[in-house]
Amino acid sequence: MSIDSALLEAARGEFATMLDRLRVLVNCESPSNAPSQLESCATLLHPWLSTALDRPVQLKRAGENVHLVAEAEEPKVLLLGHFDTVWPVGTTEEWPFSVTDRIASGPGTFDMKAGIVQAITAIELLADSSHVSVLLTSDEEVGSTTSRQLIEDQARKAGAVLVCEPSADGGAVKIGRKGIANYRVEVTGKAAHAGLEPELGVNAAVELAHQRRSVRVFIARSTRGSFTATTPLSEASSATR
Ligand SMILES: [Zn+2]
Repeated sequence: MSIDSALLEAARGEFATMLDRLRVLVNCESPSNAPSQLESCATLLHPWLSTALDRPVQLKRAGENVHLVAEAEEPKVLLLGHFDTVWPVGTTEEWPFSVTDRIASGPGTFDMKAGIVQAITAIELLADSSHVSVLLTSDEEVGSTTSRQLIEDQARKAGAVLVCEPSADGGAVKIGRKGIANYRVEVTGKAAHAGLEPELGVNAAVELAHQRRSVRVFIARSTRGSFTATTPLSEASSATR
């Protein structure tokens, strides 16, 4: 693919501004489970985006979440991203934003605040961004439960969707992404006194552990290169007698 050298040069000219924005954005911590932090981050991004696009940007509220949507009248391209991170509030105190040897670092820099800054800069560099829609969500790291409909609606309207998530080593543009599947496994145990009649009890957690391994093997066999993520187990209820 040929690269427009004038456009590339113009992008390089924005380097200092991009770095400043990235620093501000990373310092505005925004873990998925902190609504007030997400609100602050949305408030920070809102004027950046509306100024870049030179048109209004909507704050879409869904439950405790807030997402940013700028829909073009006739969208050709949707720029999609998320501003929530997996890092809890206070992480910047131990891991402040820094740039060493041209590598920016800090919570959420890679995934995906740098991508948001790149998207906004790309919009500014376009001669005409009237056909570009933008959607920035705040619950991607926890499964996009409140933004899923918005993503589907906006994606359907656009001719192409560019997800501004980071690339892997080499910096190539990603042209495909894995999907996800959610399975719900309910396990019921049988309570018994651990000292007097342990043989009558059935431990639900042990059964769930067996099921968890089965699901993993099933996924590995049926889908090459996919995997199941192991997440914390929480106890819904317990009973003893
Ligand atoms: Zn991401």
